[in-house]
Amino acid sequence: MNDAERVMIIPCSGIGKAYGSVGREAMYKVLEEMRPNETQTVCLSLLTLGDEQAQARVRNARVITVDGCPFKCAQVNVEHAGGANAPVFRVFDIYRAHKELKVRSVSELGENGERMAELLADEIAAKVDELRAMPRGALNASVVVNEIEECEDAPRGEEK
Ligand code: SF4
Repeated sequence: MNDAERVMIIPCSGIGKAYGSVGREAMYKVLEEMRPNETQTVCLSLLTLGDEQAQARVRNARVITVDGCPFKCAQVNVEHAGGANAPVFRVFDIYRAHKELKVRSVSELGENGERMAELLADEIAAKVDELRAMPRGALNASVVVNEIEECEDAPRGEEK
């Protein structure tokens, strides 16, 4: 399958943030274990830096973003690159639905963080299947959303 047919999953970089780490873990689960032949990713830092090749890949793909907080760095950078209507996942929604899953720390997500990543990965994989079943250009933005803590250190793209 060529790149244009694969759904692109872009998590925020969220370094230093537990929810950012959960989002990246969920992305790897989908990319490497659940839908390895149907998905791809691109480094968010390349988008932040304005790398033309990375931006072109985003424009040509169906994209899902995964963000760890309301700064929504993945979503902002995808939109800045010209990617449109990307379905958005916010890690906090998983926590809101499963408050028993408190993540221990960034460096060690622990059982709860792993479980949260699994739940999120299931939702992302279902969205991958949904996008692949749709004709190109028929995408409606679908926002899975909410408010959470902020991460001040993460890279951010310029707002349009
Ligand atoms: S500030 Fe950006 S990189 Fe950090 S957790 Fe929030 S969305 Fe992710």
